[in-house]
Amino acid sequence: MSGLIEASSSGNYHYISGLNSPSELEEQRARSLGSYEILDSAPEASFDDLAHLAASFCNVAAALICFFTPTGQWVKASWAGSAHVMRLEKLPRHVMLYDSGLHENDNVLLETGAVQPALAAIKLHIIAAAPLTTPDGLVIGSLSLLDRRERTLPDGQIAALTKLAAQAMRLLELRRTLMGLSEANARLGQQNMTDALTGIPNRRAYDHRLASEVSRAERTGEALSLLLADIDQFKIYNDEYGHLAGDAALQCVARLLRGALRPYDFLARYGGEEFAIVLPSTDLTDALMVAERMRGLVAGADFPYRKLSVSIGVSRLDVESGARALMLAADNGLYRAKAAGRNKVVIGKLRESEVAGSARA
Ligand code: GH3
Ligand code: MG
Ligand code: MG
Repeated sequence: MSGLIEASSSGNYHYISGLNSPSELEEQRARSLGSYEILDSAPEASFDDLAHLAASFCNVAAALICFFTPTGQWVKASWAGSAHVMRLEKLPRHVMLYDSGLHENDNVLLETGAVQPALAAIKLHIIAAAPLTTPDGLVIGSLSLLDRRERTLPDGQIAALTKLAAQAMRLLELRRTLMGLSEANARLGQQNMTDALTGIPNRRAYDHRLASEVSRAERTGEALSLLLADIDQFKIYNDEYGHLAGDAALQCVARLLRGALRPYDFLARYGGEEFAIVLPSTDLTDALMVAERMRGLVAGADFPYRKLSVSIGVSRLDVESGARALMLAADNGLYRAKAAGRNKVVIGKLRESEVAGSARA
């Protein structure tokens, strides 16, 4: 570390290494702490263990790992020997620990001034505090040792304390990397579930959702309906106006269908120019209304080149038959809507041959 940490009148430290003003430093520190997402985080055994190691190795009553905030110090981890554990428990997690008169000695800050009431109340003094320094040189916290009386640590213990503070900082870095990785994973998972062209859930997401809604309906006995919507004569549209115009029309249809959804309905691109809509807690009457609204929205919309329409098959879950039968029935409805001239909504039923095949054992 180059430079000094100095206590301000508010009890905070300022790292004085030339150009930075105290407020700039506080802002930098706040940004840095924000990036580590450490303030107000839950206790973590690895930080507690470091506090324990520091106190044991240096043979002191207690140790704290804390981070500097504009209003004091926030205690991430603490450890006290059995004689002092009760005292330490009285310490709030956000506390004013340091007062004044800190000076630097080989990377360790020594408290020489009066202790804060918070420490007087627990009858412990800070005898040494190793700074937690980010890779770019910003002090954001400390690993502090507390004992019943002021004393100077032997050089070997000071060296160990400094190394343990560096470990605490590495732990903080590692923790941030892991959090970043898990966020990236969550984003990837989200991408895997989203159709790139329309931005709505894809077939994979639909399969998951349908399975969970079917098992929920089976458990609760609530109704569950399904719509399968297919753009009419979309091949001709593509052939006449080109694939890019087709893509734009697909995006537009997805937006229109989404406009007819209720908050708990689920729309997905099933594939090609087909969409599936899962309607939880919905019987056939309401499912027909939703389907009709969708059909009307698409038929009434102005697309760049000419009108488009959708045909929709509707089905309701029969708990005896399950998800596959629900899909087959909706598909049959869609087939009949096409056969009846398109731009129609038709309730689908299982064919005789399908009834036997989909009945559950
Ligand atoms: P029908 O009314 O019987 O459904 O006729 P259709 O022409 O819509 O049906 P068909 O299955 O013959 O053709 C579907 C067309 O959808 C063919 C394909 O080029 C087009 N299509 C599927 N996915 C996409 C896509 O991602 N982008 C574009 N532009 N076209 C697509
Ligand atoms: Mg199709
Ligand atoms: Mg089609």
